[in-house]
Amino acid sequence: MAAQRANTVKHNMDGFNLLRLRPVRVLVHWGGFPYVFQALFLVVFVALGVFGWGRFTPDGVNDKLYAKCNIVTLLIWAVWWPAMIWLAVLLGRAWCTVCPLELVGNISERIGRRLSLPQASLPRWVAAGALIVALYALVQLVVAGLHIHRVPHYTALFLGALLGLSLVTGLLLKDRAFCRGFCPVGLLLGTYGRGGMLAVRPHTAEACRECAPRDCLLPANRTKLDARSCPSLLTPSRLDSNRDCLICCQCIKACQLKPKNMQLLLRRPFHPDDAREGLASWPVTLFVLLVSGFVAYELCSEWKPAKVLFGIVPHWLTARIGSDALAGWINGIWMLVVVPLVGWTVLGLLTRLLGGATSVREAWRRLALPLVVIIAAGHMAKGLAKFTSWGAFLPHALNDSSGVTTATAFGAGAATLPPALLGKGIVSPVGVILVAAGFLVSLREAKRAGPERPMLPVVVPLVAVGLVLATLVLGWGM
Ligand code: SF4
Ligand code: SF4
Repeated sequence: MAAQRANTVKHNMDGFNLLRLRPVRVLVHWGGFPYVFQALFLVVFVALGVFGWGRFTPDGVNDKLYAKCNIVTLLIWAVWWPAMIWLAVLLGRAWCTVCPLELVGNISERIGRRLSLPQASLPRWVAAGALIVALYALVQLVVAGLHIHRVPHYTALFLGALLGLSLVTGLLLKDRAFCRGFCPVGLLLGTYGRGGMLAVRPHTAEACRECAPRDCLLPANRTKLDARSCPSLLTPSRLDSNRDCLICCQCIKACQLKPKNMQLLLRRPFHPDDAREGLASWPVTLFVLLVSGFVAYELCSEWKPAKVLFGIVPHWLTARIGSDALAGWINGIWMLVVVPLVGWTVLGLLTRLLGGATSVREAWRRLALPLVVIIAAGHMAKGLAKFTSWGAFLPHALNDSSGVTTATAFGAGAATLPPALLGKGIVSPVGVILVAAGFLVSLREAKRAGPERPMLPVVVPLVAVGLVLATLVLGWGM
């Protein structure tokens, strides 16, 4: 064990400690960090929520067109959301550093403590992510069923619900409960961000072992405003994964060793020393299953023949039921449940037949973490496509924030729709390169997660998924 740790220490030095840069060091150690940035984003969230409140799609205007013209839907769904996906893959949970929801949870937890409210610990099953999977599925289902991403009022309700939930969980539960057990994007950031290049790690494990005060762990430090012991209940001296660390830098501030032992590293992606699990937990597995269906649907939506093919069954079902109001919900269940369940059963059977698992369920757990690398790459490609097409509306939305005049003019043909910032001829090959890179990394991740196990049972499903996603993205340029 000691040898293993020493090895980790040696490799952890394979990165650049950003704290060696004076501006970064001063910023991180400033008492207002990261609170000021979180507060700024909170102001933006609240302002967007207030502005979007009561605004619905104008009569006679296509809801997707209106969503591109309204500043709230445009900024939340075409800028913030894709940026969060890219940021997670490249820099781990960097968004969490400045996230306003964490700030709300933090403040309400302090208020709850002041009011002597009984604050419970998070049950283990909740901390494992079971509710996060459910909330993520719920959000995606509501997006599909109610088109909350196309209606400013619904988007405002969504933001309000997130802020409300973080407030209530903070009051009633302790230890960063919202982030650890309720944040709908918590598992997305934790799984997509595993190979992120920004990481908090100890410089040497030995120094931490010999550190008597253990300020980064001390319960008494947890309720401080600054230089807190880890509010997420992690053990900073043993960090070997980006999964749960919000890069809040509190442990860096808390460390009293001279020189400080905790580092803020910029490292190569998917650092070899990080921990890999041979089998993903069930919440992670189910999350990857859900998100695979969502990403497949999103990639199909950019290529008409694929979109038609993907929608044949839900359209047929909607016509049979005879209720257009149910169309989005049927589509949501199709993409989030039926398609991934069928696809994953085929993949699981393949892995099992090739001797890589004793059951389909075990195969799912073995495949989830390598697969998520390819899926995240596909998600990045979709994010790029969305940003480049919707982003062209940004100048219009800044001129006419409500978007009513703009959307009405575009809808009536009185104005020409702006061309995408980048054509499909560029976005498609870039997307294919992303998926191909994701595929190669996923192979390496599968190898690192189980070097002693045969690779073929995992490689075949990875090739299958990689080919499907690459074909869909290639189709965008046709
Ligand atoms: S886990 Fe969710 S709420 Fe917490 S900081 Fe990250 S994004 Fe924000
Ligand atoms: S390990 Fe450090 S940076 Fe990560 S969440 Fe805990 S205190 Fe924040």
